[in-house]
Amino acid sequence: MINYNFFNPTKMIFGENTIGQIGSVLSGAGHKKVLLIIGGGSVKSNGVYAKVTDSLKSANIEWSECSGVRANPELSKVQEAIALAREVGIEAVLAVGGGSVIDTAKAVAVGVYLDDVWQAFERKITITRALPIFTILTLSATASEMNSNAVISHTEAGKKWGMGNPFLFPQVSIIDPSVQQSLPWEQTVNGALDALAHIMEFYFVGTVEETTIAINEALMKTIISMVDKLQVNPKDEASRANLAWAATLALNGISGAGLKGGDWACHGIEHSVSSYDAKVAHGAGLGIIFPAWMEYVHANNELQFARFAQSIWQCDTIEQAIEKMRAKIKQWQGQTKLRELNIPENSLAAIAENATMRGSLGSLKKLGTEDVEKILRLAY
Ligand SMILES: [Zn+2]
Repeated sequence: MINYNFFNPTKMIFGENTIGQIGSVLSGAGHKKVLLIIGGGSVKSNGVYAKVTDSLKSANIEWSECSGVRANPELSKVQEAIALAREVGIEAVLAVGGGSVIDTAKAVAVGVYLDDVWQAFERKITITRALPIFTILTLSATASEMNSNAVISHTEAGKKWGMGNPFLFPQVSIIDPSVQQSLPWEQTVNGALDALAHIMEFYFVGTVEETTIAINEALMKTIISMVDKLQVNPKDEASRANLAWAATLALNGISGAGLKGGDWACHGIEHSVSSYDAKVAHGAGLGIIFPAWMEYVHANNELQFARFAQSIWQCDTIEQAIEKMRAKIKQWQGQTKLRELNIPENSLAAIAENATMRGSLGSLKKLGTEDVEKILRLAY
């Protein structure tokens, strides 16, 4: 095993009817004025917004609001929120939504102290401080509620890039899994596919790290079986709760302990796909890219891929397991080929070029532009 650091300072408040605690959480931390960041309005229709604002009012916490964060969140919205935060003067940011809203809040939290927040994504400046971050999660997928990463799209530059910094850990996150009962089915599936991808980014570089590998197998099996159960009954509370917690553990440091930082080629490729077409949901893109990547790289760690085939899919070969995985995604009504997302075939070379703009991707097998294009063709 390699040496590694494990660090996660986020306090998690998990369970039904926990959202109303946010007012006392914020006042307990000494905050009186926050920037509330939300997405496109589902938090208003599912009752979460009312629970949050009632709680803020009863704790005498003032808030200013930035709404309209979309999936594949944009730099322009981050800049709008930073301007608002500076104008009204806030002490903390409160994200209420899914990973896009939380990532926007994280970028705002560091961006209020920077002349140009994008320079942090370009890794041209060092982050030395951030506003305290609090989150209420309404869509389990990215684990942003319990990690130190944020991904933002700079649309004009064609860049969808991430940053990671310990200042980006939320102080407190609240997950009430019951609010996810009303999610559109495809969002449940895409969230689960993103969580599975986060585990697999680490899992396939593994060899002897039995503790983490075994945890990751348990998480993958749990995610798959919970989605199966939710497909039968979307209101199954226990399945919502187990899926939510598994998605958080998929990228809060636990799933990567000892696994050399993971591979992350599939995320790099997917970010380029959804940078090309922002309508592509991150999880949906990953569900297509990952099986193609497995086909291309499995010879570089045969034992671990064979273990995956046996343990997760009860298959003798990785080829059979890949087909079973695609069949499972189809059963969940997801897509398994890029053509189904209306990506034009003649754009694949440009997507590969964009994905490798900063150099090769991956660690299990270093992928240059030509490799990425081949994977995109396998995924087409
Ligand atoms: Zn992801």
